Amino acid sequence: MLASEIISEINRQVPERLQESWDNCGLQLGDANQSVNRVMVALEMTHGVIDEAIEKRCEMIITHHPFFFTSIRSLDFTSVRGKLVQRLIENKLIVYSAHTNLDQMPFGISDALAKRLGLESIKFLQGTSVIKGYKLSTYVPETHAKEVLFAMMEAGAGTLRNYTHCSFALEGIGTFRALHGARPFLGEVNQLAEVKEIKLEVLVTDVNREQVIREMLKAHPYEVAAYDLFAMENSLGETGYGMVGERGESISLADYADELANKFACPISIYGDRNRQVKIISCCGGEGADLIPIAAGSSDLYVTGDIRASKAQMAIEAGLALLVLPHRETEKPGVEQFQELLQEWFSDLKIFGSNADDLLEMSWAIPFAER
Ligand SMILES: [Zn+2]
Repeated sequence: MLASEIISEINRQVPERLQESWDNCGLQLGDANQSVNRVMVALEMTHGVIDEAIEKRCEMIITHHPFFFTSIRSLDFTSVRGKLVQRLIENKLIVYSAHTNLDQMPFGISDALAKRLGLESIKFLQGTSVIKGYKLSTYVPETHAKEVLFAMMEAGAGTLRNYTHCSFALEGIGTFRALHGARPFLGEVNQLAEVKEIKLEVLVTDVNREQVIREMLKAHPYEVAAYDLFAMENSLGETGYGMVGERGESISLADYADELANKFACPISIYGDRNRQVKIISCCGGEGADLIPIAAGSSDLYVTGDIRASKAQMAIEAGLALLVLPHRETEKPGVEQFQELLQEWFSDLKIFGSNADDLLEMSWAIPFAER
């Protein structure tokens, strides 16, 4: 499979256009025309990840944190970063990153964290956009209806929540007269043609509609194919940051912190009254300080990574208890879930999850429960 094909499918599932303006998702390095059979998935790029990718004979590395984030003014191969670039190029490794776009997906980083926290009935803490749906219809001669429909489906049309291949077909008679200069697929120039046509209707979204129309026109036999696009009222899916859900039973903040320290095997900072009972819990993978005001309005407790003391103070003042984990611990469940999804989407590829990126933070491993 070509790297470009992998990238376009990931882009269909996790649209790059959803990324924040300061972010840098997408192809980071390498030749997208290269063929790929094996992929390594990691939180971020390290020399350990490259070692693993080489050992597993991968041609591509997909990271959550973008490999290039700030502008590059020189590539000194004796620096750590320069050496990473040198090794990636020498080993013909393609690097792709899905960051704030993956964060916002219903199967994104915070979704996996919420599941890991044992939360139920989860929903987005802050919705960002709603995926809009459209009904696309076109008229095809009977003989080519299947081919055109198949091309549209392959490009992602007809997917409605847990259903794929949703379509509707209607038989009818189409007429047209080709003028001089036209090269009609059916009928003669200057004569009125009557053709048995099928009207095909499929569902597309603002994410895939351009691709579907392009593939439809490619497969369509007519020189000029007519089609129409109607906006639908029902939303097809939401995106957002953070998640909020419920724990089956309420628990004291101290006991819950203890439970998580064991589950995540990492130190946890507790902000708030340890005896306070918590039940409605919100979370955000990575650095989630920005969501504190929303979390305070909708939950007893907020679980996230990397919060500075001043921000924690803000949470306490707003009546919100906080549990703060190391950044990577809050994102690892999401990266693992992404790896599983990639394996589902690309059954022909071998997708590996990296263990090497753990090496950077080995020094803090004193679980709360053991202190
Ligand atoms: Zn992160």
